[in-house]
Amino acid sequence: MEKFDVIVIGGGVVGTAVLRSLAAYKAKTLLLEKASDVATGASRANSGIVHAGYDAETGTKKALFNVKGAAMFPSLTAELHVPYQKTGSLVAAREGGLPALQALYERGVANGVKVEVIDRKRILELEPNISPEIAYALYAPEAGVVSPYKLTIAQADHAVINGAEIRLEEKVVSLEKTADGFAVRTEKGEYFASYVINAAGAGASEVNALIGEDAPTETHAVGDYYILDSKEAGVVNTVVFPLPDEKGKGILVAPTADGNVILGPTSRKVPHEVAEENEVTREGLALVREGVGRLIPCVNLRSVIRVYAGTRTAVGSDFIIEESKKVKNYFMLLGICSPGLTSAPAIGEYVAGVAAEALGLIKKEKMRPLPARFHLTKATEEEIEDKIASDSAYGRIVCRCEKVTEGEILEAIRSPLPAHTVDAVKRRVRAGMGRCQGGFCRPRVMEILSRELNIPLSKIRLGDKGSEIAPYEVKDGYEKV
Ligand SMILES: Cc1cc2nc3c(=O)[nH]c(=O)nc-3n(C[C@H](O)[C@H](O)[C@H](O)COP(=O)(O)OP(=O)(O)OC[C@H]3O[C@@H](n4cnc5c(N)ncnc54)[C@H](O)[C@@H]3O)c2cc1C
Repeated sequence: MEKFDVIVIGGGVVGTAVLRSLAAYKAKTLLLEKASDVATGASRANSGIVHAGYDAETGTKKALFNVKGAAMFPSLTAELHVPYQKTGSLVAAREGGLPALQALYERGVANGVKVEVIDRKRILELEPNISPEIAYALYAPEAGVVSPYKLTIAQADHAVINGAEIRLEEKVVSLEKTADGFAVRTEKGEYFASYVINAAGAGASEVNALIGEDAPTETHAVGDYYILDSKEAGVVNTVVFPLPDEKGKGILVAPTADGNVILGPTSRKVPHEVAEENEVTREGLALVREGVGRLIPCVNLRSVIRVYAGTRTAVGSDFIIEESKKVKNYFMLLGICSPGLTSAPAIGEYVAGVAAEALGLIKKEKMRPLPARFHLTKATEEEIEDKIASDSAYGRIVCRCEKVTEGEILEAIRSPLPAHTVDAVKRRVRAGMGRCQGGFCRPRVMEILSRELNIPLSKIRLGDKGSEIAPYEVKDGYEKV
């Protein structure tokens, strides 16, 4: 049985943040993820907003980790080369909405967040396309937007180059307390850990049940979204929310960190059994259109390039972030819904600190920095020439919409946590994220994966097991699965 000091269960933004923070210590660490990549759960499909921190109830863990986490984003994203912009956010209200804005303002101040209530004149300076019905707004200049899956992947990569291990397609199916630690069984193997951290998102209650901890009832709410083509960038400059209600922060319009525009999410309750299906519904999308019309009526829905959905998992009204009192050296992260993305870096630091203290781990003197990836669209003429001279693959464009080269795709396949599916390549380098949504580049990406991983084309998957894209014989020489 392979032995580790710490095993983290779940490769979302929270689990990878914990792993990265643990990699700052002299320890043998492992993250187990049941899916084919990290960032496939809630950390893939969310709004990507770095919330300023006025929304969470003062004194809660949500408020504490939100505010701490948001402050970490400028330096963290620069260090990990993750797309992030401090755009600021507006909570837009009509006449009559001032008392509700005032309450949010006071909560913001109590949480230590920079906020101000502004009038229509100021709103128009920030958002010229705002609905004529909007009279006031709460402005939070410190809010921002980030690529949630790129952050998750970068945290994973950074942890790996600093000695942590990640094993994909290994669902934890059994957890047993031993005299000095835990026997952790997956569908593929068995490991020993002195300390276990449950960061399994929608599966966290199930993991708790495996070790005899309380498995609180989780509630799940799907959020439907539209993504607009990057040619619509500029229709909004900040994150524009409506006034929040009992369902949450409401349907927003925002720029994405990668240059698109996002519309959504709804909040539709779904049962646990379908929580990970992330199905968009016609009714949900209709609600998004309605909500967007009340904020930015000129949004051009003809520029929609994709719809998607993500599922929030909540356990009561606050995050559960605590060491088990029943099971020694077992840490629980349950109900990490919004603002979990914003909070993740601060949660990671905190949890790694608790585990390090329990095991007496010593901090390394320094961590190896994560090298930046090459991006054709962000490089100068000179950098492009140098790159092509060093490897001609950087001169071959594979994804025409997003201008992604073969060289960048090869980097993704050879990265510290290698991409081995079409969607994993897409999340790392954006091949297939543009207007044609992979219509042109997907077969080329499949060929490159097949060549690099030395597996037949028929075995190339979109994502998880069973998602082979072209498993059947369509012409001579094409191999059956
Ligand atoms: C619609 C929506 C909008 C949101 N918007 C925002 C926002 O704008 N800003 C913000 O701050 N937050 C936002 N959030 C919240 C944020 O996305 C989540 O808090 C965060 O992604 C949770 O991360 P996680 O790592 O806990 O969970 P996940 O990303 O779900 O990761 C958990 C992982 O555990 C794995 N797993 C489960 N069971 C097992 C097992 N038995 N063995 C191994 N692996 C297992 C899963 O496959 C998964 O990869 C939003 C969430 C949603 C759904």
